[in-house]
Amino acid sequence: MTAKTARSPSVAIIGAGWAGCAAGVELSRLGAKVTVYEAARVPGGRARRVEHQAQLLDNGQHILLGAYRDTLKLMQAVGLHPEQCLLRLPLQMRYPQGVDGMDFIAARLPAPLHLLVALLRAQGLAFADKLALARFSSAARWMGWQLHVDCSVSELLERFDQTDRLNRLLWHPLCIAALNTPPERASAKVFLNVLRDSLGAARSASDMLLPRLDLTALFPEAALAHIAKQGAELHLGVQVRSVSPSAGRWMIHSDQANQEVDAVILANSPAGAQHLVQAIDAKLAESLQFDYEPITTCYLQYPAALRLPLPFYALADDVSKAHWAQFVFDRGQLDTAQAGLLAMVISASSQAQALSHEQLVQDLSAQLAAALNMKELAQPLWSKLITEKRATFACVPNLERPECDTGHTGLWLAGDYTQGDYPATIEGAVRSGLQAAGLLMQSLRS
Ligand SMILES: Cc1cc2nc3c(=O)[nH]c(=O)nc-3n(C[C@H](O)[C@H](O)[C@H](O)COP(=O)(O)OP(=O)(O)OC[C@H]3O[C@@H](n4cnc5c(N)ncnc54)[C@H](O)[C@@H]3O)c2cc1C
Repeated sequence: MTAKTARSPSVAIIGAGWAGCAAGVELSRLGAKVTVYEAARVPGGRARRVEHQAQLLDNGQHILLGAYRDTLKLMQAVGLHPEQCLLRLPLQMRYPQGVDGMDFIAARLPAPLHLLVALLRAQGLAFADKLALARFSSAARWMGWQLHVDCSVSELLERFDQTDRLNRLLWHPLCIAALNTPPERASAKVFLNVLRDSLGAARSASDMLLPRLDLTALFPEAALAHIAKQGAELHLGVQVRSVSPSAGRWMIHSDQANQEVDAVILANSPAGAQHLVQAIDAKLAESLQFDYEPITTCYLQYPAALRLPLPFYALADDVSKAHWAQFVFDRGQLDTAQAGLLAMVISASSQAQALSHEQLVQDLSAQLAAALNMKELAQPLWSKLITEKRATFACVPNLERPECDTGHTGLWLAGDYTQGDYPATIEGAVRSGLQAAGLLMQSLRS
């Protein structure tokens, strides 16, 4: 095949989300001639910048973890400084004071003391709750954070005799934030993987990292600029319509032109990849079929002087009270240009989606005003609601996820949904992009 000659192999990447951008950086580093096609004008995919009222918002408020080692490494590789771009906070689950909640924050001590001390100091938990949590943590460590047979997170918690209060105030919001799937339907195996790399690892891995830049600036934009300097061709605002094999190479048919390349990475979400491979391999297309869970982010703007006591809070969700959100973030504490702007997050938001925008904004501002005991929060100056209907795949037990290797020479998959330890996350996407790029180059050289 032509790609096995001494010249640089040509590779097309379809999709400039975090997976596609990670693949681009790695392929460029390994000497490939890269072309990136991105349908949108702004790169970043499901973690991207959105402009509204002259403000740079995101399509959804994101949180990263210290355990996102490949993401942090790649940010550095493209010239960013993660310690400046992200606000690093100790692992925490802090509810506003004065309501039914708890206050749990990791201590600045080496693992596992950081959690032990947090547990001893935690407010809002009874002795029985603390004992149950300590039991869970030591049993999970003893099991190596592994389960041989997958089950739901709820079943796992029941097996470990977790109290109602812990389930409601700790495990439910943690599971829904990490897997975007409610505990009764979420995979215990994947949940334990996340806990292993955060609670079970060094203290810094459990840190929570809040973006100070918009999500496109946080990596995708810098990644594309970095590879463009090394000769990559970028086509933003160009949708690829189809890909087809062509005498051992691949033809890319886009809105603009056709291009023949040695290999192609489909980094364009499972549904997009499914559409492109349908005519090539029906079985592969079938393996790209997923159920999805939505996420809704509601931005609420208040006068610039408004500042919450903490950069973010957990909120108790309760459908019966129309309390939909699980978290609120004070964007002004991340970026002074956004003073007075709060972002409320509803993960697995299918029930909330049934409401009109007006009703949901009203419910959310009322929830916030009640939780923080600040009447003025009920009347934002403006609001912006963004729902990503296919935010993540539903991370259910025993989910079959496709490998990066499609089995077709020169055709690779990359994205948060490919086989891996993580649920649909930025780190899952980045690792998948790196893996696809590495395996692709290996295959062309062998
Ligand atoms: C609201 C929300 C909140 C989230 N919160 C978190 C969080 O707190 N922490 C976390 O780690 N993760 C979070 N996630 C998940 C995370 O954003 C995703 O896992 C990650 O961004 C997926 O990246 P990806 O590259 O795999 O796919 P995508 O981001 O879907 O990228 C695919 C790209 O391909 C492009 N494309 C599609 N079809 C074509 C075509 N035919 N031609 C050219 N281009 C095409 C798309 O425009 C897109 O840019 C959240 C997701 C959402 C939506």
